[in-house]
Amino acid sequence: MDKKKKNIGELLADGELILKKSGNKSAAEESLLLLSYLLKREKFDIYLNRSLDVSFRETQLYYEWIDRRTRGTPVQYITGFQNFMGMEFKIAKGVFIPRPETEILVEELIKLIESMPNEVELSFLDIGVGSGIIPVSICQYFQKSNKNIHFYAIDISMKAIELAEENAKKFKCEDRITFFHGDIFFALKMLNSSILFDGIISNPPYISRDEMYRLPDEIYLHEPRKALYGGEEGLDYYQKIICQSPEYLKKGKSFLALEIGHKQKDPVCKIINQTGCFKEKVSIFSDYYQNDRAIVAFTSTCDKK
Ligand code: GLN
Repeated sequence: MDKKKKNIGELLADGELILKKSGNKSAAEESLLLLSYLLKREKFDIYLNRSLDVSFRETQLYYEWIDRRTRGTPVQYITGFQNFMGMEFKIAKGVFIPRPETEILVEELIKLIESMPNEVELSFLDIGVGSGIIPVSICQYFQKSNKNIHFYAIDISMKAIELAEENAKKFKCEDRITFFHGDIFFALKMLNSSILFDGIISNPPYISRDEMYRLPDEIYLHEPRKALYGGEEGLDYYQKIICQSPEYLKKGKSFLALEIGHKQKDPVCKIINQTGCFKEKVSIFSDYYQNDRAIVAFTSTCDKK
């Protein structure tokens, strides 16, 4: 591979060619995207400056990035970033890469929180915080409003907690989020916390065993299995979260909001109804492809502690 100093236009052409040869179907877009992150320039700026020389160090790094991409490493693990709700979140290997579908859940949560009272502090729990996109983008949205919100965020992966903390700092909402390392409600139990939440939110791992085997290599080989696999039917975490959440939710005036897989509406609704702690009518939201993608259930006044 020719690694001498080159200009932007040459790097784009080379990158595209190498990616194309490796079978990448979006070679042009990805070579541009990688170069734009590497040079910290907008894509249009890259196009407008094709004859600009790139330093030797950056040229070398670009070929390294292209090479990693040909070996299937997701773009986000190479650049270290993913855009979510118009914000550039830091991303790191070992932590789930946020998906655009999760914006559906966040948009509905923002509407829901907007309709809640301003006078009191509202507290929310995010189970499986990953890179922090859910609490951070919601806190960022309400930063300049008179909403008084506080998030508690849990993840089983310490790497995820560290990354989410970095993202909270990046978007200046670290004062509004308390992080816990632990499994589902375990961290709260350990604290012997008597806190009751206005809302519990989760985008849990929900891939079933069959679907795991059909995942593209790019996901299967590179993203953390424990952030993807949801047990035989993909329902294990829903079962745990839904059954335990009434204990931690304010009775009759709080919600449980979950992202779901496109075939999981019925089984997840069934689990919700079986608890007897949520109102029968739940809200379902579809994603850009008209797949069921999020469920919000509202608590009733059941007796479960
Ligand atoms: N809540 C995070 C996200 O939506 C992590 C999800 C996960 O690890 N399954 O990106």
